Amino acid sequence: MAGWPVVGHEWATDLLAHAVRSGQVSHAYLFVGPDQIGKLTLARAFMQAMLCDRAEGPPCVDPSDMCRACRRVAEGRYPDAQVIAAEKNWIQIDQVRTLLTDAAIAPLEGKRKVFVIREIERATPAAANALLKTLEEPPPHVVLLLTSDRRDLVLPTVLSRCQILSLRPLPVERVRTALQERWGVEEDQAALLARLSGGRLGWAAQAATEPRVWQTRAKYLDDLLALTSGGHVERLAYSESLSRANDGVEVALGLWAGWWRDLLLIQNGQAEALLNLDRKAQLVQQAALYRPEQAQAALVDLMRTLRRVRGNVNLRLALDVLLLRLPRPAVS
Ligand SMILES: [Zn+2]
Repeated sequence: MAGWPVVGHEWATDLLAHAVRSGQVSHAYLFVGPDQIGKLTLARAFMQAMLCDRAEGPPCVDPSDMCRACRRVAEGRYPDAQVIAAEKNWIQIDQVRTLLTDAAIAPLEGKRKVFVIREIERATPAAANALLKTLEEPPPHVVLLLTSDRRDLVLPTVLSRCQILSLRPLPVERVRTALQERWGVEEDQAALLARLSGGRLGWAAQAATEPRVWQTRAKYLDDLLALTSGGHVERLAYSESLSRANDGVEVALGLWAGWWRDLLLIQNGQAEALLNLDRKAQLVQQAALYRPEQAQAALVDLMRTLRRVRGNVNLRLALDVLLLRLPRPAVS
């Protein structure tokens, strides 16, 4: 649907726009899909569309011509629109209680009250249970928009009470053009970021605008190279420090998986599909140092460890095993 402040996911904006136009908005939606794929952006746009003063049209997009409601929703100052996120890694029972108290009161300005709850899988059992009753019998003016990148961890009782929208990565080309047109990124950089993003526009936009993301990538890739030639002591010490990096663990493992994938591509003569285009010379040099089965085994180990890390295993142990098994250059 043209006019939504969302890149891609047209089927979803069409569906939500139709719900607003026809007055058939459900009381609960769950947006699922990989991290930084656009779930929150879509939920915010939907929130705006429901509360827009120019009702039943698309939400106001142009920052210089926004209705009062859309402007305040966008700035987080609209009394009937709230976004709730985990505090100290968890969505706490007190946060849900506050939401429920608020939800029970009629809207102050709009015809609805809309609550976004991010990463619903982080709700403590008590918080999830408190929310369930409202999901079952919500006050008629309340709409709940939940997001999650871990659908497998969302309680079945929550899933069954929501309309579920599964977002998929955008085509890489779509990410590239969006970076150039909306964020003014240079063509080569946009092509590289789009490749690395795997279709997650949120990641690409953040990497384009925050040097920190880029520096972190460089650090983890350099660390990997140092670790392959490091001994047991270095590897275990690194495991210890990485295990304390919280979100950094998945970032590092994802980058390393991409690295070994690239090595395999070069070994198979498919360098045109590389992710890490900016490090091609280094990849070619490294690819010559390993047998293909070593790169393959390293990639499989990383994918397995990523799944285990997401499944809340003993993180330190999983990283110890991964790093001790990391291959050493075998070809000289
Ligand atoms: Zn508006």
